[in-house]
Amino acid sequence: MNRYWTALAGELTPYVPGEQPRIADLVKLNTNESPYGPSPLALEAVRAAASEALRLYPDPEATELRETLAAYHGVEKAQVFVGNGSDEVLAHTFAGLLKHYEPLLFPDITYSFYPVYATLFGVNCQTVALDDAMRIRIADYRRAAGAIIIANPNAPTGVALDLNEIAALVDDHPDIPVVVDEAYVDFGGQSASALLPGRPNLLIVRTLSKSRALAGLRVGYAIGDSGLIEALTRVKDSFNSYPLGRPAQAGAIASVKDDGFFRASVAKVIEGRRTMTEGLVALGFEVLPSCANFVFARHGALSGADWAKALRARAVLVRQFGKPRIADYLRITVGTETEIGRLLGACRAILDNR
Ligand code: PMP
Repeated sequence: MNRYWTALAGELTPYVPGEQPRIADLVKLNTNESPYGPSPLALEAVRAAASEALRLYPDPEATELRETLAAYHGVEKAQVFVGNGSDEVLAHTFAGLLKHYEPLLFPDITYSFYPVYATLFGVNCQTVALDDAMRIRIADYRRAAGAIIIANPNAPTGVALDLNEIAALVDDHPDIPVVVDEAYVDFGGQSASALLPGRPNLLIVRTLSKSRALAGLRVGYAIGDSGLIEALTRVKDSFNSYPLGRPAQAGAIASVKDDGFFRASVAKVIEGRRTMTEGLVALGFEVLPSCANFVFARHGALSGADWAKALRARAVLVRQFGKPRIADYLRITVGTETEIGRLLGACRAILDNR
């Protein structure tokens, strides 16, 4: 605490992103990045946008990008909001839709940015425990609430709810906003976008960082009823009118239009997840059923922290969270075939050298 700080700055416990270290020949499976890279058409569009035109401010409404996303999801442009990564979209969602007198509900094990935003925006929140199989139980959300946010598939578990369960959650709470963070849905989850008609309380948040391999471009978005979207726009225009630069808007448009590349890389990640899961299970790991581009796994031979340390010593980086209930798990991003081979080889060596 510095004497010039506001009380708020002192009270924050900031989110800690996964490391981006410079280690030679590193197998980097700690931040759920795509091993297959962005669409070549997206890269071309970003390069073309890096022109004299950067002199000019970008379109503050990101009209063409929102039209492209609207067409992709079969909704109206007024139902689409875009931001600087889905983290920013989530931040505006906390400020514009999730702060109420009754508590905001979210799972005890979920994306660790939610409690950080709750502190930043002074949102009263309550966590709801996952069940013993690390699943979200919809029935447990039937209590007094001002709003609900879940990730589906959940992070860092990778476990997904099916569409009926999401529909039940949204329909159980018609009078409050229900937000579904679909950062990982393209890897095998069912999108709640099919549920949007007739549900003015449902907001879906998505990102181009994972399945479209554009984490470095910083583009996320939300789709939902135009009434919800208007709240986000009001917050955005009270914070930063130009969250997406010209290269980001151009790259995102080209990426969303390149369906062939998208489908092929998602299919490769799903195949890699199968190989990785089978390999880990063969080594004695317990692996939760994942619909994401990572798996959540534990192995009784070592604690989560010791596994992460031993893997790091072999230049394999995974994510471990020193939190109750999940301290013994590793969250491991699905890599290329070679990276999966290196991971499994390192795990085998660690087990052999105990
Ligand atoms: N939601 C979830 C569940 C995530 O895991 C992440 C990635 N850290 C995000 C949102 C944010 O991703 P981005 O800001 O890159 O869109």
